[in-house]
Amino acid sequence: MHDAMLLGLLLAAIAIGFGLGIRHATRRSRQAPTASSSSLSKEYFIGLNYLLNEQPDEAINTFINALDVNSDTVDTHIALGKLFRTRGEADKAVSIHQNLLARPALSRSTNQNVQLELARDFMALGVHDRAQRLLHSLLEQSSGEEYRYAAKQLLVDILEREKEWQNAFDVIQPLLKQHPGMRRPASHWLCELAQEEIQQSSRALARKHLKKALQLDERCIRATLLLAELEMDNGHYDRAIERLDHIPTQDPAHIPTMLPALKRAYVRNDDIAGLEKHLYRLLNQAPYTSVIVMLGELVHQRDGVDAAIERTGEWLREAPSLGGLDYLLDLYVESQRLSGRTSPDTRLLLLKYHTQALLKDRPRHRCRRCGFSSDALAWQCPSCRRWGTIKPITGVEGE
Ligand SMILES: [Zn+2]
Repeated sequence: MHDAMLLGLLLAAIAIGFGLGIRHATRRSRQAPTASSSSLSKEYFIGLNYLLNEQPDEAINTFINALDVNSDTVDTHIALGKLFRTRGEADKAVSIHQNLLARPALSRSTNQNVQLELARDFMALGVHDRAQRLLHSLLEQSSGEEYRYAAKQLLVDILEREKEWQNAFDVIQPLLKQHPGMRRPASHWLCELAQEEIQQSSRALARKHLKKALQLDERCIRATLLLAELEMDNGHYDRAIERLDHIPTQDPAHIPTMLPALKRAYVRNDDIAGLEKHLYRLLNQAPYTSVIVMLGELVHQRDGVDAAIERTGEWLREAPSLGGLDYLLDLYVESQRLSGRTSPDTRLLLLKYHTQALLKDRPRHRCRRCGFSSDALAWQCPSCRRWGTIKPITGVEGE
């Protein structure tokens, strides 16, 4: 696929090159033919020869040398640089872009565009400090708003990778009004800062960051979860429950995420009846497997296994799921054990074997943006790098 793209670009480069060659030639045919126009065509033929001999690297180098940098070809150079970078050859992209920057004739906006590309090359090479320096100097050159925003986004990308949350926040904060799309990442940087403060036992500062995070993005469930944890650490279980109760309104898909904290708050508050009532409320709102299983366990502990089988069976009829069926089979096995069987029914064990096989290696979370899936919940998608897009997988095979 990359090779096909490469070939397409090269052919475009050749076409431009020949076009220029012909233009040069016709312009100059009235005068005496010059050495430069004939050397241009010669290099193209050499490049073409490399290409036909399947030596794309040599072919590209020859074409780049042959391509004059002027307003007609500068885009081709930039495109070739990008192509190298996406092929994992950012070092070559660097030399193309540096070669472009060495030309004094570039327009101001092209120069800024090439500097941005060069910063992306350095990032791809992992040389974050050089990319940062370049972006800072670009920002100092009182560039156009469009380039400034692009430069700031790249800068923030580096700062995120370096886990410099406060610096990332400081870069973006003045832009939050014009660019509301940055509010969500900014709220997560504040959550990161809050977590650092919690580790250093500065709870008051952590709380401040979290409240600000919620002001920026009222749907930031991560901030709500952390605030609930802080309440629990202080022994304020009712307040923790009150916080957690916001999560289904903020984002119902995260009900499975908050269940462990909710259970902990009620258990520490010695209020199992309250937990059951709360879970029934959630069940009516979103009958997720994790809610059903938690509720089933409460019935199991209080009224015994047969009552749990009956109730769980009813709930699963409304919202069937593989995880729910697996749990129901556990209850059946337990019921047989209690009724005095020495070993459970082999048919039950066979069904249990199948549900386990189907559940094994099944990811529990998925990015709603790019489809990346993982077992654990990550607040920033490692694949598309968006914040807050990974959510529990729900439904028949889900949580
Ligand atoms: Zn993603």
